[in-house]
Amino acid sequence: MIYRDIHGIDIDMINTLNEDKESNFLIICDHASNRIPIEYKNLGLDEEILSTHIAYDIGVKEVASHLAEHLKCPLVMSNFSRLLIDPNRGIDDPTLIMKISDGKIIKGNKDISFIRNCSEKKHRVNSYYNVYHNKISEIINQSLKKNIFPAIISIHSFTPLFGGKKRSVELGILWDSDNRLPDIFFSYLNKKYKNMNIGNNEPYSGRMKEDTLYRHGTKLGLANILIEIRQDLIMNSTKQKQFSKLIAQPLLENKSNVHLFKKKFYSSLAK
Ligand SMILES: [Zn+2]
Repeated sequence: MIYRDIHGIDIDMINTLNEDKESNFLIICDHASNRIPIEYKNLGLDEEILSTHIAYDIGVKEVASHLAEHLKCPLVMSNFSRLLIDPNRGIDDPTLIMKISDGKIIKGNKDISFIRNCSEKKHRVNSYYNVYHNKISEIINQSLKKNIFPAIISIHSFTPLFGGKKRSVELGILWDSDNRLPDIFFSYLNKKYKNMNIGNNEPYSGRMKEDTLYRHGTKLGLANILIEIRQDLIMNSTKQKQFSKLIAQPLLENKSNVHLFKKKFYSSLAK
């Protein structure tokens, strides 16, 4: 599915890598892009704002792509800005289409209603949000048919400064109640990266009802984890490669860990 952006470039709504590779792992990236279809006129925002964390997660496309190569597994990335619609929110979440973000008013979203039958909301859900989630479901279903229960790794990045406050966490491990992947990461990081400031469900909680991992991981009993990297640590290609290796290492060490690739249901703590 294609749309045209403000520069007249035709864009695929989603980006995938290694789509047909059979693997125990699946990587997803909800906020990989800052692009917006031409008809939205950048939602009334300056290009400068669209190049910041408000529009997307800086550096994650590169980290996730390297990670997919290390793990030789499929990667699904959204290719539209979260300001158009945020794939990592439930359909009824009031922050699905943001009207204000980090103090900036998103003019092109101001008339959107939260109710389900708002026609513009419906359009964005059907034309963008669902396309992304359907692709993730398609790849998971292909695996399930072969009796493979993939562990899902979701890659995000966060701004070091939010609402004027500095964030000290460098790497956040966000999770709900399935501790299979988080335990592996906590023990690996505590051993190998003792000086790194690791957040346990920080800088925010991963316990969010109907977010991407809730839908595709928790509900299906698939092991899952959301990794948040502070943006200033992945600003250039060398650092992006380093972080992808850091994330790949504990996963590669556990690629034969049967415990990770079983269907197992954990009761969610999401609100
Ligand atoms: Zn994100």
